[in-house]
Amino acid sequence: MHPNTSALSRRDALRFLGLAGAAALLPSFAARAADSATPAAPKPAAPAAGPAPSLAGTQAGYYRFKIGEFEAVGLDDGGFGGPLEQSPWPGGNRDKMAADLAAAFLPNDRFALPFNNLLLRMGSELVLIDAGCGPLFGPTNGKLASRLAAIGIKPEQITAVFLSHAHGDHFGGLLDAQTKAPIFTNAQHFINRREFEFWTGSSPDLSGTAIPVEDRGGAIAGAQSCLNALKSKWHFIAPGEKLLGGLEIIDAPGHTPGHIAFLFASGQEQLLHFVDTVHHHTVSFANPDWAFAYDVLPQVAVATRKKLLDRAAADRTRLFGAHMPFPALGYVRKVGDHYEHVLEPLNLG
Ligand SMILES: [Zn+2]
Repeated sequence: MHPNTSALSRRDALRFLGLAGAAALLPSFAARAADSATPAAPKPAAPAAGPAPSLAGTQAGYYRFKIGEFEAVGLDDGGFGGPLEQSPWPGGNRDKMAADLAAAFLPNDRFALPFNNLLLRMGSELVLIDAGCGPLFGPTNGKLASRLAAIGIKPEQITAVFLSHAHGDHFGGLLDAQTKAPIFTNAQHFINRREFEFWTGSSPDLSGTAIPVEDRGGAIAGAQSCLNALKSKWHFIAPGEKLLGGLEIIDAPGHTPGHIAFLFASGQEQLLHFVDTVHHHTVSFANPDWAFAYDVLPQVAVATRKKLLDRAAADRTRLFGAHMPFPALGYVRKVGDHYEHVLEPLNLG
């Protein structure tokens, strides 16, 4: 029999009970139980001395993990949400949404989407995937800068920044809020050429989205302002390209025309950062046909979602997502005509 499949050894059992040192002395559990039958005298209660120290405060907001030889850190940037009647699934069934949220033990009268970014150390490169929302979502968001400071990384140390697509929750942290100067001064900036050309072209078409007609001009102007401010820094890439000794650019169009995902590989390990291919760990996995309000090409987005999730489910690929629950790591399982997101347990070793 393989040692790992043998019954729990008595020594291990005692270790788990905190009794390893006593193992050699004890003839059996029964004897130990008899020895400890005498109850200890109760301790007198300490006198009350005012309220206990508060345990409230901010969370760390970063989570370290590895992909083979690559060091990685998931970085919380904040998030947004609202009442279910303002949910970002315009074609979704409200009752089904509420039922899916309740089944996942979530409040079922509102939705919430976290914002996550990913930092990796790949050899001599420090690689940032997306830059958070900066000042665009108000003072409770745009935490990326403070998260980087908390792990001791200065913006000028980052050597490569990839923008997955030109939405504010991903590009807002690329430029200084006041001066509009680049934050990541020493980094090469990468974007899919198709994405850049869509937004900076003569007439980006947002008619497929659920963005109110009167807001579409502002959305386009915001993307153009950021993309053009960094014009001299962009390096244009295309899906299928392999870069930095372990990163493949994955075609993931639909949410925006040039939206890309990122497949990291080192040794036997992989991580697929699917970015905005899926937006909610419960609703979007349970209802993969529901387009998201900001999808520029909704039907293409649905097809991309199913294609990437089918592949990840079949290959049991480890996943990271821009809007998954922090630290945004997990897996996908296919169940009939839909999917389930499986959160990866934290590893604090
Ligand atoms: Zn997003």
